[in-house]
Amino acid sequence: MRIETLAVHAGHSVDPATGAVTTPIHLSSTFERDPDGGYCAGHVYSRTSNPNRDALETALASLEGGAAAIAYATGSAATLAVFQSLKPGDHVVAPHDAYYGTLRQLREIFGVWGLETDVVDMTDLDAVERTIRPTTKIVWAETPSNPLVNIVDIARLAELAHSVGARCVVDNTWSTPVLQRPLELGADVVMHSTTKYLGGHSDLLGGALITRVDDEFVERLRLIQKVGGAVPSPFDCWLLMRGIRTLPWRMRAHCANARVVAAFLESHAAIEAVHYPGLASHRSHAIAARQMSDFGGMMSIQVRGGENDALGLTRRLQLFTRATSLGGTESLIEHRASVEGAATLAPPNLLRVSIGLEHPDDLIEDLEQALR
Ligand SMILES: *Cc1c(COP(=O)(O)O)cnc(C)c1O
Repeated sequence: MRIETLAVHAGHSVDPATGAVTTPIHLSSTFERDPDGGYCAGHVYSRTSNPNRDALETALASLEGGAAAIAYATGSAATLAVFQSLKPGDHVVAPHDAYYGTLRQLREIFGVWGLETDVVDMTDLDAVERTIRPTTKIVWAETPSNPLVNIVDIARLAELAHSVGARCVVDNTWSTPVLQRPLELGADVVMHSTTKYLGGHSDLLGGALITRVDDEFVERLRLIQKVGGAVPSPFDCWLLMRGIRTLPWRMRAHCANARVVAAFLESHAAIEAVHYPGLASHRSHAIAARQMSDFGGMMSIQVRGGENDALGLTRRLQLFTRATSLGGTESLIEHRASVEGAATLAPPNLLRVSIGLEHPDDLIEDLEQALR
């Protein structure tokens, strides 16, 4: 089945008790025990399982083409679960431009747990090869990356990970299963901040891991979910299921809008650089064209001048909201260097842009009046 159909149907069913076509929200924290001590409906307590979370996990596994999906309260909790599944002395390789919260977890939480981490530029696969070792358990990738929009060759990275028996995890938040299919390219685990495109409306927090096979590693991730307790609320699961229904069509519009906005910005004299993998000028356009079906709604731009010129642009824009996050219906713009602080890789004149679902001509007219 095609992804548009899966997005509408996977995990959805008519409620047998009421005939409701839209799945009810099961807010109950606890479920009645049968007289014989069993639980015939399969649920005991909502931290360990809940009907809305079950439906969501079914949908997520189906969308990514995985064997299992495990939903968490946030994308960060999903990332945390991957590292919590490891033992002291295990080694992790992560990209130097991973989402800054991912790198903070490795530095500030898992360093003291005894996890060893090396951070490399993953566009350089020779550097990755030199860094992996027999104790490497996770090779983490994020592509396109944040904020410089670098592209990593997932298939080759997964081969390198597998050469030492490590798992390759891909943060697929920016691309979604609509544009990029890491499990089919050889990755073992896909991670999502469902807060972003999967939710799609900037009104929930969520995260997920989807795995290629259902093995003992998945059991460990489920244990961390159920016993650790960083689970999404039933209402957030329900909102996410609603967002997913339109995901393939929203992604199409995000991509189409971003394509014309990127072309406009690239030709504007006040813009020094546009980082968008759909542009032929992008350094890894060829890899992106091979492993993605389209190029997404995220880009970063460097404004000619410096930090003040970049911040000035954000103040003059009227349709783009100055805010962090991405993947909602509204366009957002953000000065990453001042958000990330001292450890940032973002140049001072860089702005990250999440292109929303407005009419692209309105976005371009707004940029035109603000760029001077
Ligand atoms: C937002 C984001 C995260 C973190 O997810 P939260 O839901 O905010 O915890 C991780 N990776 C990427 C690429 C993100 O954009």
